[in-house]
Amino acid sequence: MKTIGMLGGMSWESTSNYYREINQLVKAQLGGFNSAKIVMYSVNFEEIEKLQTAGEWDKTGIILSNAALSLKAAGADFLMICTNTMHKVANQVEQETGLPLLHIADATGEQLKAQGISKVGLLGTAFTMEQEFYKGRLQEKFGIEVIVPNGVQRKLVHGVIYNELVQGVLNNRSRNDFITVINDLQESGAEAVILGCTEIAMLVNQNDTKVPLFDTTEIHAQAAVDYALS
Ligand code: GLU
Repeated sequence: MKTIGMLGGMSWESTSNYYREINQLVKAQLGGFNSAKIVMYSVNFEEIEKLQTAGEWDKTGIILSNAALSLKAAGADFLMICTNTMHKVANQVEQETGLPLLHIADATGEQLKAQGISKVGLLGTAFTMEQEFYKGRLQEKFGIEVIVPNGVQRKLVHGVIYNELVQGVLNNRSRNDFITVINDLQESGAEAVILGCTEIAMLVNQNDTKVPLFDTTEIHAQAAVDYALS
């Protein structure tokens, strides 16, 4: 079994879900007392969030690269960044460490392709919904058209992520708002919607809507386990 290097804490709420999910998947596959071999570096999200807001992505890349080097020294065989947004600096982290990095958009793109989805809606932070590092990768590598909510809805989704979900706050009104956004994306032609922020599945899940949802935390965790056991 390979040792998984988790870059977590963005937020710790979703990292704890990753940790549980990965261990449950290993146990389901191998049985007995099996659990995942994991080394984790959980950052202080306050530092990351300040730099995101200031647009100082290079500095976030340095923090994550240094954390990843610690994971390498601790025996990680490969890396995963446990957030969609911070894949903005995935290349930098991969290059600095020389370790394979399991990209969350690739894991998601593979699942979408396998299910024959060619046009998908994307929910995430404003950075993920508005910049090219994530949408562009799905479009270029997998030929999947990505649509995002309108400006007002993007602001709402971003606000709920930072003001509620990463703080561990779950609010029924926000759940209903997210369901409306998801339904609107379907009306605009999306065949499915990516929960492209690792906290969103804490708020909405497949029981809340008929629109097929792709939960990036679950998909990324499964990809990590597949790779660790391959
Ligand atoms: N976990 C979130 C994501 O998947 C947002 C927190 C962050 O900015 O990293 O994008």
